[in-house]
Amino acid sequence: MNELLSRPVALSDATLERLDRRFADAPAEAAIEYAIERFGSRLVVASSFGAEDVVLIDIAARIDPSVRVFTLDTGRLHQETYEVMDAIVERYGIRLEVMVPNQVSLQELVREKGNNSFYASIEDRRECCQVRKLEPLRRVLDTADAWVTGLRREQSITRAEVATVERDITNGGLVKFNPLASWSRADVWTYIERHGVPYNRLHDRGFPSIGCAPCTRAVLPGEDERAGRWWWERPEHKECGLHARAGLHQSSATH
Ligand code: SF4
Repeated sequence: MNELLSRPVALSDATLERLDRRFADAPAEAAIEYAIERFGSRLVVASSFGAEDVVLIDIAARIDPSVRVFTLDTGRLHQETYEVMDAIVERYGIRLEVMVPNQVSLQELVREKGNNSFYASIEDRRECCQVRKLEPLRRVLDTADAWVTGLRREQSITRAEVATVERDITNGGLVKFNPLASWSRADVWTYIERHGVPYNRLHDRGFPSIGCAPCTRAVLPGEDERAGRWWWERPEHKECGLHARAGLHQSSATH
């Protein structure tokens, strides 16, 4: 059993359901403000520096510039992602927590399977995500009681049931805030343009969803927003474990 599962969680399931109803149709600012006030330094905002995540940072930093923001630097990100990362840090003055893979685990993976094992099978791809994303995620979530993500229901079939506030069973029962759950893609871009938020330039080149460079490509008009992620896999497999789901008000693992 995951040792994190035993962590005491301050908010009951009934409270989470009440909060979900309260924030489901409220502005995203309301949920983020509540999360910051309720959890303080035990709250972390997740960012892969995609369009949704820069919106989250803009909102959160306006409420509290000292809010904790983390990113998972897998070592395989696009150059454009590093560029927007620096631009966001400079613009908002946030102290970004950059989580990197465990060096020993990464060396073992590369020594045994090479640099591109993720193309070999779903199991190999998940192993790479485990080393480069999930273990670092677990380390940062171990310092938190709640986290904020930019998940939207519209993004894919794997995210269709995301709640605005839910319990993250896979990640130790933390409270998970998804303030943009009901937003459309147009809502995100309207916000970015209205507030002049720096964004990843790959979005201008047909990448609606951006992950690691070898596992992300541009999509065609009309394709699912996450069709370019692990494009060689079936749609129901397109999660790395950061945001797997176990049911209503529960979430499981990858981004
Ligand atoms: S997205 Fe690809 S490169 Fe990145 S951690 Fe997962 S398998 Fe590895």
